[in-house]
Formats: sequence, structure tokens, C-alpha cells
Amino acid sequence: MKKYNFNAGPSILPQEVIKQTAEAVIEFEGQGLSLLEISHRAKYFQPVMDEAEALMKELLNVPEGYRVLFLGGGASTQFCMVPFNLLEKKAAYLNTGVWSKKAIKEAKAFGEVVELAASTNSIPMDFEVPQDCDYMHITTNNTIFGTEISDAKLQEIYRKKGKVRLVADMSSDILSRPIDVSQFDIIYGGAQKNLAPAGVTFVIVKEECLGHVTRHIPTMLDYRTHTENGSMFNTPPVLPVYTALLTLRWLKKNGGVEWIMKRNIEKANLLYNCIDNSKIFMPTIMDREDRSRMNICFVPKPEYEGLFDEFFAFASGRGMVGIKGHRLVGGFRASCYNAMDVEGVQALVDCIRDFEKLH
Ligand SMILES: *Cc1c(COP(=O)(O)O)cnc(C)c1O
Repeated sequence: MKKYNFNAGPSILPQEVIKQTAEAVIEFEGQGLSLLEISHRAKYFQPVMDEAEALMKELLNVPEGYRVLFLGGGASTQFCMVPFNLLEKKAAYLNTGVWSKKAIKEAKAFGEVVELAASTNSIPMDFEVPQDCDYMHITTNNTIFGTEISDAKLQEIYRKKGKVRLVADMSSDILSRPIDVSQFDIIYGGAQKNLAPAGVTFVIVKEECLGHVTRHIPTMLDYRTHTENGSMFNTPPVLPVYTALLTLRWLKKNGGVEWIMKRNIEKANLLYNCIDNSKIFMPTIMDREDRSRMNICFVPKPEYEGLFDEFFAFASGRGMVGIKGHRLVGGFRASCYNAMDVEGVQALVDCIRDFEKLH
């Protein structure tokens, strides 16, 4: 049976990317060796790292003065690496859910943290950014609760931040839409949602923002170590970086982030429209502007609460995978990352409609 992969992360990758990765595991580019057994210093791998950085820059329109790094440690290590490198006195965080909270917890060990506003079911905008902050931090897409900072609200944040540096966790919506990178000093994320298998973390960093704090930074946690060594100070996660490169090539070949944004909007409209008009289900995020295109959450209406298990079994029987909501939200979550096509979302919509006909 065909499986439709709605996993929240690690998550769906383009089929051709998975096949090409598998081929490279057997034999890497006709070299007679597996990608798993070559040196990252070998002449074979440097072009992979170089092309991955170049394609990230090209697809996201990254201006001069920025580097793109591929590191280990996950987004969770970035929660402490950001304040380690940037927080001298005070930082401002917008708290929009579990991941923001974890980032805030780490920052508190380095200085004063101002929580600008907090909400898990909307993107709050009633705040001013203190202009004496070292930086402001946002989570652009809230993977667990299913909210996302819209392009219009991003514009508002660019205005509100004034001259304060802006840092973003874009783990779950990187490359899903165009972003004005010039507004940010650091953009980071675990690559296992929209780009690669688990094991690699992307960091887009403006070189100018580094070197302004007075504390000692351990070598591995200092961004300069990695900018100066092209992500090769220590052994990089070779296989996930290669898969990231394949995904970037896939995206470029198909039309880049403009193309994927259109497809992501089409998918999100299809599914939200279905659950907005459903007899049995309702979305958990009511404000349309704040709805995530990547993680679409819905629950049975109160009068249909008892149908959770039945729908889960029904959908599983139709090949739907990974649709159980996070335990903090309950209900269902369909993660519709870049690699999910319109047909996959249509299959879920058909599944919901057919289930409704039974009740
Ligand atoms: C998944 C996720 C993380 C955690 O990433 P790790 O690579 O597992 O550390 C952080 N932030 C967001 C928004 C996420 O979706």
C-alpha cells in the first residue's frame, strides 16, 4: 500500500533524493567507494560542502557577508550557541511555543531575557522591542502547535526590531517560502524537517555579528571556528550534508522557493478548507493568518471526541502515517513539508471526507 508520510520530523524527503542517497551509500560518484567510507577531507567531499553552501545562498538569496554552515548538534545546540556568541547583557524572545521556551531557558544562563509576548495558539504582536537588546529571537514556525509567522507579521517584526539584531529558529519552515535574509543576523535549524535526514544543522550567519561578546567561547561552540573552517573544523555529518545537497538540487530544478511556496499554499488551503468545513473535525488554530502551512493541526469537535481512535485506524488503513498530534495538543497533526505533494494532501482530504460519510 502507498504510504503518505505526514511525520513531524524526521520527515518526508523527495523519493528521488532518497534513491540518490542510497546509491551514494553503495558507491559515491563512481569512485569505487561508499560515501560512508571516504574522508571528509578527500577531494570527493569538499565539492559537496561547497555546492550545498552555494545552493542555500542561491535559493534563499543570501546577501554578501553571510556564511552558511552545516554542523552537528541539532537546533537544540543552537539554543545555547546563539546566546554564547551574541548575548552580552540582554536579549528579547518571542515565546510562541515549546521550542521558543527551550531557547529561552538556555539564553537565561547567559544574561537577562525579556519575554516580549507569549502565546501558543496565535502569533502575538503587541510588543515593543527594547532597543538596548543584543538581539531578538523568533521561532518562525511552531512545529508542535501549528502556528507560523506570516510574511505580513515578519514585515512588522522587521520594523519593530529597529536596529536590534534578529535571530530565527527556522527548523520547520526553512526553504518553504522566500525570506528576506538581510533582516537576520542568524537563521538556524535542524535540517530533518525540510532538508535532510537527522544529524545536520544549518546555520546562516552574518559574519559581522560575531566577536562582540567578552566571554570565552569553547572552540566548538564559537561560530567563528566554523566560518573560518568552512564547516570542516571537525568531521561534519557527511551523509546528511550530501542528502541536503540533493534536496537543494531537487528544489532548484523544480523552480526554487517561489515554486515550493505556491505548492505549499495550495496544499495548506486544501487541508484547512477541508477541516474548516468538516462535520467531525475542526482546526486548532482559528486565526487564518497565524496558521502554519507546514504543520496542520486538527481535533475532533467536542461532540465527536470519541472518534479519535476510529479515525486514526481508518486513516492508517488508507496509508496515512504520522498524523497523531503532539501530546500537548492532542488530536491530529499533518505535517506537509516541502517534499509532500498535492496528491498526498488530497489523499488525506479524501480520507477525512470518506470517514465523514460513515457518520
Ligand atoms: C524540531 C525542532 C527543533 C529541535 O531540533 P533538534 O534538531 O532535534 O534539536 C527546534 N525548533 C523547532 C522549531 C523544531 O521544529
